[in-house]
Amino acid sequence: MSVLVFVDHHNGKASKASLEAVGYAKKVADQLGTDVAAITYNGIEGDGGVAGFGASRLHVASNITLADSGQLAKAVQAAAEAEGADVVIFSHDDLGKAVAPRAAVRLQAGLVTGVTTMPNAELEVSKNVFSGKATAHVSFKTAKKVISILPNAFGMMPSEVSTAVSTFTPEVGAAQITVKEVKTTASDGEIPLPEADLVVSAGRGLKGPENWGMIEELAQELGAATACSRPVSDIGWRPHHEHVGQTGVAIRPTLYIAVGISGAIQHLAGVNGSKVIVVINKDPEAPFFKAADYGIVGDAFEVVPKLIHALKSFKASN
Ligand SMILES: Cc1cc2nc3c(=O)[nH]c(=O)nc-3n(C[C@H](O)[C@H](O)[C@H](O)COP(=O)(O)OP(=O)(O)OC[C@H]3O[C@@H](n4cnc5c(N)ncnc54)[C@H](O)[C@@H]3O)c2cc1C
Repeated sequence: MSVLVFVDHHNGKASKASLEAVGYAKKVADQLGTDVAAITYNGIEGDGGVAGFGASRLHVASNITLADSGQLAKAVQAAAEAEGADVVIFSHDDLGKAVAPRAAVRLQAGLVTGVTTMPNAELEVSKNVFSGKATAHVSFKTAKKVISILPNAFGMMPSEVSTAVSTFTPEVGAAQITVKEVKTTASDGEIPLPEADLVVSAGRGLKGPENWGMIEELAQELGAATACSRPVSDIGWRPHHEHVGQTGVAIRPTLYIAVGISGAIQHLAGVNGSKVIVVINKDPEAPFFKAADYGIVGDAFEVVPKLIHALKSFKASN
């Protein structure tokens, strides 16, 4: 028996969210007195970095070339059965959200998504519910268990283990994917939002897209990703992939700076797992201040340039 973990990859390297899941799987395996096997698909280079996080074996489904969730679920089922794995771990990222439920059905396993805690001795786990206003403690009634963990909830948990890489060709049928990849464009220097440790986000208080220069500059000085509220992406001031909240990306960075965002419940649902929240808003009654660790009541057009100046001065003198 082992714990199985699903690994996604980009440019031949395991994604940050997947490595976090491997580290989590290793902790669960230690708890159960077993080891970790990982499953991925064609395109990973070597072990893709998985070795440093505790997987003893990496099975590469060599006949899957695109991230087709139906094929991947079948490959996960095959690997779980070959490994005798009763616990299968995913990251609750875009691909994990698509594959984990399919794999759970195939394995006739219980499924808990978006988990934020290590399992206890009875393998009970917890997750945020009702837009983060409550925590659900969930126990499994099934022998097989599928858990997907919220990205950034645990951080990286390195564990040096040598990883044996092998390929296999599970029965997965034809890919059902209906989107064809035509071109991949790397966005130089841009930090993917779900993986970002620091995030600078702005809302309708910025008045228009022409004012985002200072947000980008602040993000650049901090080495942060940029995000926005939903109306901002709905009216086209910013791209949709930056929209955070209940209907957008859910993030858990170490630092979330919210500029000119009111702090509606639907926005908070996607960011209230952030470790430190800094709110800049000219309205002292803005609801976001209730969720803030630090609040600055002031005009963003005065405060943000001062922050950028202070950061530059600090960097220059250190
Ligand atoms: C079903 C549903 C789902 C939703 N999902 C999401 C979601 O996923 N994410 C999301 O963000 N929203 C979501 N919303 C919308 C949400 O309810 C709010 O309407 C939205 O978050 C408000 O965006 P905002 O804070 O940018 O704008 P506003 O509410 O207009 O707030 C602007 C803020 O900027 C401040 N401000 C103005 N000028 C300045 C200045 N010069 N300096 C500093 N501060 C200034 C104001 O005081 C105000 O607090 C959803 C709504 C519904 C109904």
